[in-house]
Amino acid sequence: MKDIIRVAVDGPSGAGKSTIARAIADRLSLDYIDTGAMYRAVGYKMLQQGVALSDAEAISRLLDTTDIDFRHGDTVLDGEVISDKIRTPEISKQASDCSALAMVRRRLVELQRKMGGEKSVIMDGRDIGTVVFPDAEYKFFITAAPEERARRRFKELAAKDGQITFEQVLKDINARDYNDTHREVDPLRRAEDAVEIDTTNMTIEEVIEFICREMKR
Ligand code: C5P
Repeated sequence: MKDIIRVAVDGPSGAGKSTIARAIADRLSLDYIDTGAMYRAVGYKMLQQGVALSDAEAISRLLDTTDIDFRHGDTVLDGEVISDKIRTPEISKQASDCSALAMVRRRLVELQRKMGGEKSVIMDGRDIGTVVFPDAEYKFFITAAPEERARRRFKELAAKDGQITFEQVLKDINARDYNDTHREVDPLRRAEDAVEIDTTNMTIEEVIEFICREMKR
């Protein structure tokens, strides 16, 4: 293996990318970078500050004064740990909406390239293999049927919020799939040289094993 390697893990919401990427990071001693959390952090800050999606000037100012980092697996926004605050349906929607803005993407892609420029990383997101690191050493595209992804996400969310229904979660997944694949800037798509893994009928452990095997080849 080379000294510095970049592993790109892309795919739609709820496919298990972050669980898988985190486990591989542990196993192979790579830094894990959750780029979805970065879009969530920006969305969270916009909501906190009451900045509208249509207010380009305010968004530009916000981006210029925003610092996002990861510490021991936590997402840190301007020095504050926000990991627990950004996993709500409201922030998911806001992250998906603000991720369609070219200005937001430009800034976060720049940050991500910096993070992956100095050390070996595994990064998960939607555009890592296509835009952030088109020359990544390894690229994976992880998918699963929408109903299966909704089932997984529902299990996670229902533990925190007894009111949430499966139908709501499935609707949310479908809406985010649509947004992510139809936006003009850097839409979600598989890089031609990415290995696609359909995880609908696989366990997390099977996917991790598969990826580790691919990386040894
Ligand atoms: O992966 P996660 O669901 O946390 O991402 C939140 C939102 O951020 C996604 O719905 C997607 O719209 C956006 N995103 C993106 N590009 C990335 C990572 C996430 O547009 N690289």
